[in-house]
Amino acid sequence: MARVFNFSAGPAMMPLPVLEEIAKEVVDYRGCGMSVMEMSHRSKVYQQIIDEAEADLRDLMGIPDNYKVLFVQGGATLEFAMIPMNLMKNGVADYIVTGAWSKKAASEAKKYGKVNVIASSEDKNYSYIPDVSDLPIDDDADYVYICENETIHGTTYKELPNTKGKILVSDQSSMFLSKPVDVSKYGLIYGGVQKNVGPAGLAIVIIREDLIREDLPDFVPTYCRFDTHAKNGSMYNTPNCWAIYVCGKVFKYLKSLGGLSAMDEINKKKAAILYDYLDSSKLFKGTVEKEYRSLMNVPFVTGDADKDAAVVAATKAAGFDNLKGHRSVGGLRASIYNAMPIEGVQALVDFLKKYEAENA
Ligand SMILES: *Cc1c(COP(=O)(O)O)cnc(C)c1O
Repeated sequence: MARVFNFSAGPAMMPLPVLEEIAKEVVDYRGCGMSVMEMSHRSKVYQQIIDEAEADLRDLMGIPDNYKVLFVQGGATLEFAMIPMNLMKNGVADYIVTGAWSKKAASEAKKYGKVNVIASSEDKNYSYIPDVSDLPIDDDADYVYICENETIHGTTYKELPNTKGKILVSDQSSMFLSKPVDVSKYGLIYGGVQKNVGPAGLAIVIIREDLIREDLPDFVPTYCRFDTHAKNGSMYNTPNCWAIYVCGKVFKYLKSLGGLSAMDEINKKKAAILYDYLDSSKLFKGTVEKEYRSLMNVPFVTGDADKDAAVVAATKAAGFDNLKGHRSVGGLRASIYNAMPIEGVQALVDFLKKYEAENA
């Protein structure tokens, strides 16, 4: 067995102990004579799996009792539509556009109402987070929307926006469970799980109960109503049983490591190893303003596309996978989520140092 250090932005690395545990249960889940893939979602055994997953997530994140946890299919992308469909009452929402994902979310929301882009960092290819302390929030805005960690551009918020009393909605896909968050500051938090948690095809939505409406327009598909999922324990139809099961394993694993503040410590240490090197390097430079650098996604460039491609090829040959940057930023990108061991980042930095010395 040879596992590589996989720096993919998503689907991304999973913790080895979790994969090994799943492997043991894949043919016969705890004496059931079948795997979780083959099990009825209406069975007692599966009910216990989903209940435990939710309980462990609530425990990890400290989710208050007046918030619902929903397991929804369609990834984070379906939420781009579900959020405006469910939360736009006045038909107006304010979006802060800080990268590719918030831009996509804003353009999807336009199908359902008026979207104000109240701040943007597009002028500098999304390399920073704009000042969000005093924004022109619309009096009629049903919510203020952010992507709290931009996976492609590698930025993250240091402080949440002042929403002037409006509800905050946050896409946390690429930072989900990477650090403690105060859930009570948000109306809705969601994330596709394939970045920092589990297998693709599942989004987790954490929504304040009073925001779950029943008086929705008729056009909203049954599946796309938050109340459908809330009333049916995320089992209105067959859920993504497998992904929920695997996420549950990851929740337990993170708890065993000391929870989200422990993850935050590790993630800060890991990112510092890479950023410190980039700051001292003459060959590479990070593309994001220091203050707003993501701890999860680290884009960097040489400034020359051919050189970038040569470095990517060299990293691949040395056993580091998926370091090619997104085409909109170019260069390289190292995604260093929870499951990337500190040794992986250290090994990458050692390699880049050596490469730089040899190619000076
Ligand atoms: C990957 C990603 C998405 C899209 O996720 P899908 O599950 O592929 O729909 C949305 N937002 C952010 C921040 C992402 O990183």
